[in-house]
Amino acid sequence: MKFFSNKKKEVKKKLSTESDTKVRSRDLSSVLSHMNVGFMVIDQSGCISEINNACMKFLNISNAVVGCSYIEILGSHELNSLIRKVKNTDNLVEEINGPKSGGMTFLASLSLEKNTQEILVLLTNSTRIHKLESMRRDFIANISHELRTPLSVIRANAESLLDGALKDHNMAEKFSSAILKNSEKLTFLLSDILNLATIESGEYSLDMKIISPKKIIERIVSEISEKYTLANIKIDIEDTLEVAIDEVAFRQVITNLLDNALKYSSNEEHSSISIRTKNIGAEVRFEIEDRGIGIPPESREKVFERFYRLKPKQSSSKSGVGLGLAIVKNLVNLMGGSVGNQSAHPKGTIFWFTLNSSNK
Ligand code: ADP
Repeated sequence: MKFFSNKKKEVKKKLSTESDTKVRSRDLSSVLSHMNVGFMVIDQSGCISEINNACMKFLNISNAVVGCSYIEILGSHELNSLIRKVKNTDNLVEEINGPKSGGMTFLASLSLEKNTQEILVLLTNSTRIHKLESMRRDFIANISHELRTPLSVIRANAESLLDGALKDHNMAEKFSSAILKNSEKLTFLLSDILNLATIESGEYSLDMKIISPKKIIERIVSEISEKYTLANIKIDIEDTLEVAIDEVAFRQVITNLLDNALKYSSNEEHSSISIRTKNIGAEVRFEIEDRGIGIPPESREKVFERFYRLKPKQSSSKSGVGLGLAIVKNLVNLMGGSVGNQSAHPKGTIFWFTLNSSNK
């Protein structure tokens, strides 16, 4: 009798440990779901023995799949091949694409439990990190390209000077001015890159004050008019208007937008540029209008992306690297506003941005 009673206790203990383990594993799986981590166990025979909601969502599985073969269920060839691979390596961590093309990416961690030959799969959403990483790669590739062009012009001109052009006054002047122009281009490019890096890293600290923008704009217009002699920019802003701004950031926003309005217009069109404000509720909307080459609808948003420049000959022949509007957008957003552009009539572009008015 004692034997049976002991056996019963033993079985009971075993059962309770097994069910404990199941409960714990279920808890773990739902905790992981809450943390948005996909969790799946594949047993020795290749069937899915556990899968949490996050994992089903990530892999686009809608039906009950416990007990089904993973090969039939998982639509991801990458994940299937990792499951096969982990049987020989014990542990694997690799980035895979989600089932929808151009969609999410996941960091898949797989491990093989030696005793039971079960495979544990954990999936974490790496889409954001993946995007940031590819933005970083594009950024470096673009910067290298933009730096290389003026540097090679400087080098070629310096070599020509040393090869004999120094002795010819006209040639020497031509090559030297090309060197000067391209070194200025490099200086602007580096300062734009540093500006953008400071803003995007969150290290740009704003000094917001209630200021009348008219005086600041008048000063910028008179500075810009020295560079573009035919510019006759109309300012239509009330003297009494006040907005909450960081003066340095505001100056940079207006300077970049006015500079573009002039740059992407012909000399004759320079006299049609205007800057005005409109009160919209608690916000003030600034508008800079030009009669220049215009922006096609499909590029309206894209022009705010780093290094994006319109393809047409007119705009790519103008100096610039495509960072000005990315800086504008970041600065306006930092000051609590939004930014955009629309077509002007009969032609040209209106760039606008909003800021909080002082009486908010
Ligand atoms: P950059 O002027 O240095 O190229 P920006 O970021 O300031 O860079 O502008 C990005 C692109 O947007 C420009 O290359 C140009 O193609 C387009 N763009 C900007 N402002 C205007 C404008 N006022 N009119 C037409 N196109 C513009």
